[in-house]
Amino acid sequence: MKVAFLASEVMPYAKTGGLADVAGALPKFLAALGAQVRVFMPLYREVRKKNLPLEPVIDDATLEIGGEKLAYGVFAHRADGITVFFIDRPEYFDRDCLYGTAAGDYPDNGERFAFFARASLETMRAIGFSPDILHGHDWQSALVFAYLHTVYAGDPFFARTRTLFTIHNLAYQGLFDRPILARVGLPPWLFNMNDLEFYGRVNALKAGILYSTAVTTVSPRYSREIQTPAFGCGLDGLLRSRSAALYGILNGVDYRDWNPSTDRLIPSNYGPEDLAGKKACRKELAALFGLAAPADLPVTGMVTRLAGQKGLDIVCEALEDLLGLGLTLVILGAGDQKIQDFLLAAQKKNPERVGLKIAFDERIAHMIYAGSDIFLIPSRYEPCGLTQMYAMKYGTVPVVRATGGLDDSVQEFDPRAGTGNGFKFVEAEPGPLVDAAARAAASFKRSAQWRKLVGNAMAVDFSWERSAAAYLELYETLTAA
Ligand code: ADP
Repeated sequence: MKVAFLASEVMPYAKTGGLADVAGALPKFLAALGAQVRVFMPLYREVRKKNLPLEPVIDDATLEIGGEKLAYGVFAHRADGITVFFIDRPEYFDRDCLYGTAAGDYPDNGERFAFFARASLETMRAIGFSPDILHGHDWQSALVFAYLHTVYAGDPFFARTRTLFTIHNLAYQGLFDRPILARVGLPPWLFNMNDLEFYGRVNALKAGILYSTAVTTVSPRYSREIQTPAFGCGLDGLLRSRSAALYGILNGVDYRDWNPSTDRLIPSNYGPEDLAGKKACRKELAALFGLAAPADLPVTGMVTRLAGQKGLDIVCEALEDLLGLGLTLVILGAGDQKIQDFLLAAQKKNPERVGLKIAFDERIAHMIYAGSDIFLIPSRYEPCGLTQMYAMKYGTVPVVRATGGLDDSVQEFDPRAGTGNGFKFVEAEPGPLVDAAARAAASFKRSAQWRKLVGNAMAVDFSWERSAAAYLELYETLTAA
């Protein structure tokens, strides 16, 4: 099974969110099951700065797109049995950020990611890798399906290729003005409702939904939710029309990177049998953020994009009540300016109770997973969510809104039966959030109950083996059909 895997961010090379974790881990687990996987991503500045031993694969190729000759190169990096091919076009990718700055998205994102898609297809040809499956992720990779459907239709090199499109987040669709089609060398007839047109603009994500052999989302519940108007982001009708080829496969965790007994980013290692190291991590976390964090009151962590999706506005509204419960809050995140300002003010007012770092920082993220008692995820919607899975492995009890993958992966704790691994609330309102946090805080006070709950959370197994096997089975179904 030859698999070409296209993603705009891949760990450990470049990351803004969960897609990078998935695109870093899934290929390795597919390879362990016998698949030959080649990963394609752009050569961002962030990758350059890592000074990896990159191997030149193509020096000076050109692509003729929209009447212009655009130069590019390709480099490769091999690690853990996987080869990653980096599309190098500095004009497009040698920039500070992946998709845009705080001021907004880069205005040429359409051209950038269309180029990435086409150069990836040409690289497959150049290295003689004719894939059985081309697996693309999110809107940044979706135009590859438009090229295969048009410019490359009938190309014998891709004649056997079946395609899979995975939606990690339906809200990010890649919307561009009509002239983008000509500029990236796609035929103008795609601008109609049954193809890529979407309320007067071009929608890149639609190419993935329409032209792929099958579509997956990152949890079973989210695959159902996106077929409803409430979660469909204007595409629920289209998704319903593809429901026979729409699957939900829950993301996994790569426990080689996310394991408190081996994690090198945390100050002290620990496991379910001996939680002494967790106490040490808590102490270090409190010191790092200058928090009082008394032992009898729970430290509540968040590692999150500061975006509307993540329910930070609900946290802001509930903040006083959460502090009233005795919680100490530790938040690592970056994004929305208004949310940042609110949280900075709250931190200033309660420096010993509210810890805040506005940054994207892998080490501090690991320290929060390890050093917190409770982990809060009040998302308005959540396609899968990885942070609750990481938190559980680190013995940090999730308090989550019952939506998407959060609902699929967290079970409400029943103190009498001793079953469950976290706390859930349904309405996206401050009151229900505070109630769920209060249930967690009450359990925290009962040490035997809490030990049971932490043990339950740490025992949950989200390892990739199962999900990778589900993907491989789907690949096999698609290639056999
Ligand atoms: P999403 O992809 O929607 O942001 P996920 O839960 O799927 O949400 O994945 C988020 C990933 O990004 C996790 O690996 C999380 O640890 C990481 N992350 C989010 N914000 C930060 C941050 N500020 N610093 C470091 N890691 C972060």
